[in-house]
Order: sequence, then structure tokens, then C-alpha cells
Amino acid sequence: MKWEAVIGLEIHVHLKTRTKMFCRCAVGALDDPNTRTCPVCLAHPGTLPVPNKQAIEMTLRLGLALGCRVAERAIFHRKNYFYPDNPKGYQISQYDEPLCLNGRLRLPGPDGVAEVGITRAHLEEDAAKTLHVGGAEGRIRGATASLVDFNRAGTPLVEIVTEPDIRSAEQARRFLQVLRRTVVELGISDAEMEKGSLRFDVNVSVRPGGSDELRTRTELKNMNSFAFAARGIEREIERQIAIYESGGQVEQETLHFDPSREDAPPLRSKEEAQDYRYFPEPDLLPVEPLREWSLDELRATLPESPAARLERVLAAGVDLRDAEALNAEPERVSLFEALRDAGIEAKPAATFVLNDITRHEVDPARVNGAEVAKVLRDRDQIPREAFDAAVAASATDGFSAEEYLRERTVADASELDPVIDRILSENEQQVEAYRGGKEGLLGFFVGQVMRETQGKANPKAVNDRLREKLAK
Ligand SMILES: [Zn+2]
Repeated sequence: MKWEAVIGLEIHVHLKTRTKMFCRCAVGALDDPNTRTCPVCLAHPGTLPVPNKQAIEMTLRLGLALGCRVAERAIFHRKNYFYPDNPKGYQISQYDEPLCLNGRLRLPGPDGVAEVGITRAHLEEDAAKTLHVGGAEGRIRGATASLVDFNRAGTPLVEIVTEPDIRSAEQARRFLQVLRRTVVELGISDAEMEKGSLRFDVNVSVRPGGSDELRTRTELKNMNSFAFAARGIEREIERQIAIYESGGQVEQETLHFDPSREDAPPLRSKEEAQDYRYFPEPDLLPVEPLREWSLDELRATLPESPAARLERVLAAGVDLRDAEALNAEPERVSLFEALRDAGIEAKPAATFVLNDITRHEVDPARVNGAEVAKVLRDRDQIPREAFDAAVAASATDGFSAEEYLRERTVADASELDPVIDRILSENEQQVEAYRGGKEGLLGFFVGQVMRETQGKANPKAVNDRLREKLAK
């Protein structure tokens, strides 16, 4: 039987606000432990939360970028659970009335565009961080003490939940990458996985191809890289298929990966139907975004969607790997497109931006695409050093291709032939020797032609032409 994977993602992103979600502490999860705290985020009795307007605005902009509907009324809920890194004993989150709903993202790929539904994007606060000391690798096992750093407690966090519309590990990786670019370019998060400002969980199930049932799913947690996640998802899909094919049943469970050890098998824990006893946060008023913001004005602040940009680059005929590398910086795509407009084919244009521009550490935003395209067009005829010099200079003001084009070599037979003919007639002995089998003399003739043309001849063209003429 042919099986189909059904994958949904939950992504958490730290917002780049100056202060925390409900107090005036500076955001600084990685600063010296417990230096970014106050009575509000330490949950002292009698303190009251005040929502961070900038965090709400960032969430609305993200929602709009993901094609969501902005709710007329959203409310914060208390999500109750006890854990040492949760000082209040509950987390302020959103439940059935989130800020943004029902979006979708057009996810381009090598086989066309897939639509991924965005169930919701809501705002909540992050927990503090527990550090286990005295044991190996900061693990709780073998630790002599556990310490809590409250710097992170109360950091604004957006949670984005997708519909189970993703069908492969590769597609999940691509979605996460595009989503990461989206939040970075919106300027709302650094979204750095190493620093924990982007985290995600993956829900995976499988079903017979073509059916629309939803079978028991498992959840993969603690992923620390997109590539690692893709491998984890692939292994999980294979595991579930093997269970069904041997007549078994997949159990609902959570698989925890150890981010520091990619080779370690995941730890498993039974999924409990948690009862968080959600109830509306009594200390906060409902948020009514449409009274405070104009959606048109917010929309006008959105940069171009990285997904749309990737779709365009792929449509131009660039392979996925290069297209994603170009898409990693909008300026790369702009330069790529300027080169295409100047008549350069997709492949050499992409290679130029990804290899030459990068190798010379040139800022693609400052390159005059139309001008540098002239050099690129005649690349084969320009000596390597002159070409490199042109690339290195391409971001300077008033860059002109002309002086580098003057270095262009002569590859045209009509210009080379008279020189070659003359040299062959002046060196009859050597010609005879060559035709008699001394093929090493080719270098001698090439040298003569290069000297005659003062190095302007294209060595490959000279070689080819000489061989042709000497063969007669
Ligand atoms: Zn605080």
C-alpha cells in the first residue's frame, strides 16, 4: 500500500520587543541570570499585567503576512499548570479567541505550489528557564541542583499553528525556512534556533494514500535545526508505516529529542490529555485590534513575502537549492532579477550572485546589475584577474563595465586566423615536426600567438583553432 504523511507544525517565535509582554523589564533571555526581573514577571502577589502594545502589533503584522483574518475581539486566557519555571502557576496565553485566524501560505517547491493552512497565530508569554547543574551536559539526570533563571519569564512569544497540510519532511523543512524568513524580514524576531528564539514541535501521522482520514499522531519536540527535524520526521514516518504494515497500532505519544545529541534515540512519554483549566484572564481586558489599528496601514508596512519571492525564483528556472540560497537575502534576489532583466540566463545569474558576489564579499544591494551584466555576458573572453577585479569593484559608486571589457580577449576566428596563418608560415619546420607526431609543439604555437596578440587572445580559442589548422 502507498502511504501518505500528514504533518502539522506548531512554531514558537520570540518577539523582538524592547520590553516583556506584561511588564517593563527589558527583554534579555541571555543576559546575566535573574537581572531582567520585576515583581510582575516574578508573580508577586498584588501585581497586575499590562499588555505590550508593540507585541500585539507585531502579531497582527505577522497574521496579515500569513493571510490570516484579524479577530475583532481577542482575549487572553490563563493556562494553568505547575512547573518550577512558571512562577505564576499559570501562563497567560490565548485559547479560543486568538488574535489571528484562518490564514494560508503558498509554499513553493520543485513540484509546484502547495497551500498550507494557518490555523491561528496567537500571543503568549514565555516561561523562565531551568538549569540543571552538577551533571553532564546540563541534563537533569545526575544533576546536583536545579536553578531557575527568570530573565526569559514573560518574553512575548507568538505561537503559529498550521493545519495538517504538509505531506513530507522536505516540505516541512521548506515551510519552516520560509516562515523563519518571514518573521525575520518583518523585523519582529531574530528567529535564531541556537538562541531559542525560534522553536517548533511537529505532529506526524500517516494514512493510506488518497484517503482523508486522520490517524493517531505523535508529537516530535525539541528540534534544534531544520535538517535535524527533517530527519526526525522521516524516521517517524517510516516507523509508523512499519507498525501499520505489521498489523499494529500507533500510540499517541511525545518524542523528545536531545538537541545536543543527534544520534540519540528520542525519549518517549505517554501523551496525557492535559487539562489546563483555561479561563479568561481576569486582570486583562479583551483586545479589540480593529479599534486601535488600521489593517490597511499595517498591511502597507509588510515587506514582500519570502514565499512569493521564492516562487518567482523557482519559476525563473533556478533549482531549489540555489533558489533557497538566493532567497536567504532579498538583496540577492533583486540582483539576480536585475541580471535576468539584462538578459543573463537563470543559471549563470544565480551562480554569479551565489559564488562570485559572495566570494568577493560584495554587498549585492550596492551592485549595479545592468552594468555588471555586461561583464558577465563576456565572461569567457575576459581574463580571470580582470573579471575578478570587476566583481570586486561592482559595488562601488559609478562602476563601469567598460574598463574591464577593454581587457576582453580575442576569441573570434576572423581576428585570430590571420595571426595564426602568419605564424604557421613563418615556422614551417615546426609545423612539419608537429604533423610528424611532435604534438608537444602545440604549446610553442600557442605561445607565439599569445605574444603576437599581446595576451588578448583567448587561449582556448587559440588552442582549438591551431589544432584545426595543424591537422590539415
Ligand atoms: Zn518584569
